[in-house]
Amino acid sequence: MRRGRLIVVSGPSGAGKSTLIRAALDAVPQLAYSVSATTRPPRPGEVNGRDYIFLSREEFERWIREGRFLEWAEYSGNLYGTPAHRVEEYLESGLSVILEIELQGARKVRQKRPDAVMIFVRAPSLEETRRRLEGRATESEDAMEQRLATAVEEVAARDEFDCEVVNDDYERAKQEMIEIMRRIVAGGEPC
Ligand code: ADP
Ligand code: 5GP
Repeated sequence: MRRGRLIVVSGPSGAGKSTLIRAALDAVPQLAYSVSATTRPPRPGEVNGRDYIFLSREEFERWIREGRFLEWAEYSGNLYGTPAHRVEEYLESGLSVILEIELQGARKVRQKRPDAVMIFVRAPSLEETRRRLEGRATESEDAMEQRLATAVEEVAARDEFDCEVVNDDYERAKQEMIEIMRRIVAGGEPC
């Protein structure tokens, strides 16, 4: 069986990464999602083990010492990391694995795994990113402003990625994301 491919999806908070990834996972059976660990508290509706593995900072730091992360980073005051073990299992079994991670983590993965496919997702503008974060209403005012400030740096790094999906019209962007994922699992050029 051919090994799966590692896929990084990155981009500003509120761009629509999670929404587009959910649609791609539903449409493309050869894909798996890497559940990250985080010290951020769960949002209403988030399930431990499905959306994230929710850890205390102490537990997270122990996982770092034990070398359990493929990459980890601090974002908006919380730690986020990709457990390496499960990713390897998926790749070995022939599934391609999506990592939904922020920019510092994306750069670490690109260094460690130059064969990873790097996909950047953004909303058409910063104003629209703000509207979406306001609409999602999962962050405090302060946390939202911090995420929007980080978004400016993230958009400046978009040339570091192989593909860019501008999530303007949802149906169009969803189709584009699905097509990219289909090409990746078929072993072709993603974009
Ligand atoms: P991210 O994972 O990048 O932080 P989400 O997937 O949570 O972003 O999307 C942020 C918000 O924007 C959600 O409320 C989502 O329903 C909404 N959204 C996603 N895509 C679009 C789109 N194309 N147009 C308008 N709203 C969108
Ligand atoms: P959120 O708090 O909105 O779920 O995620 C905040 C940011 O952390 C997003 O950009 C998301 O992609 C990123 N993130 C989620 N999991 C990981 C991870 O395992 N590693 C890194 N580096 N970033 C992550």
